[in-house]
Amino acid sequence: MSKDADKIFDFVIIGSGFGGMCCAYILADEGYSVALLEKNIQYGGCLQIFSRDKFILDTGLHYIGGFDPGQNLNTIFHYLGLADKMKFHRMDENGFDIISFSDGRKFKHGMGYENFIQQLVKDFPEEEKAIHAFCKKIQEVCKQFPIYHLKDEQAENYLDVEVRGENAHDYLASITNNIALRNVLAGNNMLYAGVKEKTPLFVLALIFNSYICGSYKIVTGGAQLIRQFSQRLREKGVKKMNRHKVVSAIYDDNKISALKTDNDETIYGKKFISTIHPSATIDIFGQENFYPAFVKRINNLENTTSSFIVQLTFKPYSFPYLNHNIYHYFTDDVWETINYSGEEWPLGFYLTTPVPVKNKSFAESLTVMCYMQPEDVAPWVNTFNSTVHPGSRGDDYEKFKKQKEELVIKKLETLYPGIRNSILHVYSSSPLTFRDYTNSVNGSIYGILKNSNSPLSTVINSRTKIPNLYLSGQNLIFHGVLGTSIGAIVTCFEFVNRKKLMEKINSFSQLI
Ligand SMILES: Cc1cc2nc3c(=O)[nH]c(=O)nc-3n(C[C@H](O)[C@H](O)[C@H](O)COP(=O)(O)OP(=O)(O)OC[C@H]3O[C@@H](n4cnc5c(N)ncnc54)[C@H](O)[C@@H]3O)c2cc1C
Repeated sequence: MSKDADKIFDFVIIGSGFGGMCCAYILADEGYSVALLEKNIQYGGCLQIFSRDKFILDTGLHYIGGFDPGQNLNTIFHYLGLADKMKFHRMDENGFDIISFSDGRKFKHGMGYENFIQQLVKDFPEEEKAIHAFCKKIQEVCKQFPIYHLKDEQAENYLDVEVRGENAHDYLASITNNIALRNVLAGNNMLYAGVKEKTPLFVLALIFNSYICGSYKIVTGGAQLIRQFSQRLREKGVKKMNRHKVVSAIYDDNKISALKTDNDETIYGKKFISTIHPSATIDIFGQENFYPAFVKRINNLENTTSSFIVQLTFKPYSFPYLNHNIYHYFTDDVWETINYSGEEWPLGFYLTTPVPVKNKSFAESLTVMCYMQPEDVAPWVNTFNSTVHPGSRGDDYEKFKKQKEELVIKKLETLYPGIRNSILHVYSSSPLTFRDYTNSVNGSIYGILKNSNSPLSTVINSRTKIPNLYLSGQNLIFHGVLGTSIGAIVTCFEFVNRKKLMEKINSFSQLI
């Protein structure tokens, strides 16, 4: 039994992903006692890393946006005490993302709006007006959401229904008939697992804008972020407890008084924040304790699709380091990548090389992310694996993964002939890996899928019917390191003076 077993924490937070860590930091910095419970051995959730053959490989963190001085995430990282302690690498200014097609066409996304326009106008001189309209529009959408710019202009944290209901694909179709340009503007849609008929423009806007405003890689990725954030939380007195899977709650009248964990501990608290998926939260706290309409809505919501990720490690000095990402397509419609059928998989992939530790010119590894539907791994759905209980899902599963790895490598060879000779080792993860390591529903990459057809159905409030239970994490506002940190701020508005918190955070802006 832990020595904190009888302590009553001001806040008990479920999940140590970036969302949980941010909530813990904000509250501890305001003087509250905080316990952070994590089911895995490793903290960090999607930021977890794994090491193989002396290589450290990332799972869910490849690049961050909004990181130029004065931009939202830059300010937040300074406030969190992370920015000065970590190493960041600014990506190619004139093409941090390259959208490429199997016929050899390549298009660059430049950093900074002027540059972004300049790069695209080179390729689409006749579309200058549409490119300007796009940039103006996505900035306008972001402005409608003051908290995104860390502004405390209005009490409203959420976008209004009209903005939520505008569809991204339809908007792009409304500004240009040029299909190639539409594809280039939606070409990074793996960043939000976009679905043509459903993804709202605001999702594209919040995410795309952030990357235009400063795309950076974190040197040694999630490893550095988890290490530094854990250190900051320790300094603030946060009690971190790994291998503490929350399984149920103890109630005192209608309020929660403690959480029970799978190692039979009881963690007492006054207030509780769940940063895990709302449907998993309902399972823990009992659906009878929520409004039936909420339970029905949450359980009927669609989640973003899952992915199959291939990680290649390279022989020394054999493959160049790419200071940009590549979104490569084997189809003429970037939105169709998600709707592959068996033989044609994958219809596209995202490629990124982490910043090399040794020689700056050569990559040490390459991450290839492809969409994969959970149905593809249905035969092994009843096998489970985790850092606490590592194991194997059987030979068939290993064979399946090897086949998929080979398909990916064959398609990679169409871009990089000879890449096979550079490969040292191949590792892969499937939707089941994500399901088991982060507890995401069916291995969903980014949680709940926002839907422009039913804009309000995907709005999640930080308050719940249980008076001392609150929600945060990637499903609250939007996903990603930026989205979850903004979500944490919004959740903490329930407990701290909103104006003062925003003043404090903004005092860390590098433009002041
Ligand atoms: C493949 C992939 C690539 C990505 N790339 C990027 C990127 O390049 N840039 C970017 O900004 N974002 C990226 N993201 C998104 C980003 O990683 C996530 O949106 C963000 O990290 C989610 O944080 P979170 O705290 O909401 O949830 P999570 O990170 O999922 O954390 C939830 C935590 O809760 C724990 N947990 C679950 N159930 C329990 C329980 N019952 N008891 C205790 N603990 C529990 C889990 O183990 C986990 O640690 C990527 C995501 C994926 C999957």
